[in-house]
Amino acid sequence: MKIIKMNPQGFCHGVIRAIKQIEEILDIDTYEKPLYMYGSLVHNKHVVKHFNDRGIINIDSINNINHGTIIITAHGLSKIKQQEMINKGLNIIDATCTEVKKTHEYIEQKINDGYDVIYYGKKNHAECMAVLENFPTVHLIEKKEDINNLIILSNKIFFTSQTTMSYFDLQEIIDELNKKYQNIERNTDICQATRRRQEAIMKDAPLCDLCLIVGDPTSNNTMKLKEVCEQKAKTKAILIENVDEIDNISLNDIQILGITSGASTPNRIVEEIITKIKSKYNVD
Ligand code: SF4
Repeated sequence: MKIIKMNPQGFCHGVIRAIKQIEEILDIDTYEKPLYMYGSLVHNKHVVKHFNDRGIINIDSINNINHGTIIITAHGLSKIKQQEMINKGLNIIDATCTEVKKTHEYIEQKINDGYDVIYYGKKNHAECMAVLENFPTVHLIEKKEDINNLIILSNKIFFTSQTTMSYFDLQEIIDELNKKYQNIERNTDICQATRRRQEAIMKDAPLCDLCLIVGDPTSNNTMKLKEVCEQKAKTKAILIENVDEIDNISLNDIQILGITSGASTPNRIVEEIITKIKSKYNVD
């Protein structure tokens, strides 16, 4: 068997920055305790557990929280929720990715300029929820078919997206929108990290018999890697969260195996998986 380790893969700059920020705070130890994380810092159980082990408590509501410090995750949080925290006298540490912040800034600016904003995202994802809470007039589309239900009469339309959607689906959605509306302004807010990981799959996956996508099923960018692999590169893909799962997958007939991982997957997990595969199979 030959293994193709795709490049780039694993932690993106936004995740690295968020982790570094939290590690520094934990090391300095001057924050007001307890230290809470509102949601998951990133959508990966290994990363979340690492911080839970260091004393950070995960919460998804501040109803029963009256003192301490709250970390806002890489996905961002709406201004309303942040204000509620401030009103309760809670301290905030903002680990929102700069790419996510940029999207909020673009939307705000365009709404102020009188545009109708169409946003391509996943309704229940933290990043999308923050956008919808900040800007309730935004028109959300989750898939191409949703375009049929859009009713926009203005001729000033701006299109943008959640940072971790499929770059290739986005192109199809833009084509479809252009058929319905004219002169749509847009900003492609799929972040570079997401886009480059998906492009690496498109390049390498067609060479492979099977691809392992290492990451968490709650991670949108990880699931999009699997989707791009199967639907666009037409190569079978298996999602794998940790090394133990290798025992449940038969790779006997695989000659070329591709491996990639989501932007929130620690490199250590990928290396453990490769080491285990090498111990079980004859790898060139
Ligand atoms: S995937 Fe993109 S938007 Fe999300 S944390 Fe990484 S760089 Fe930021």
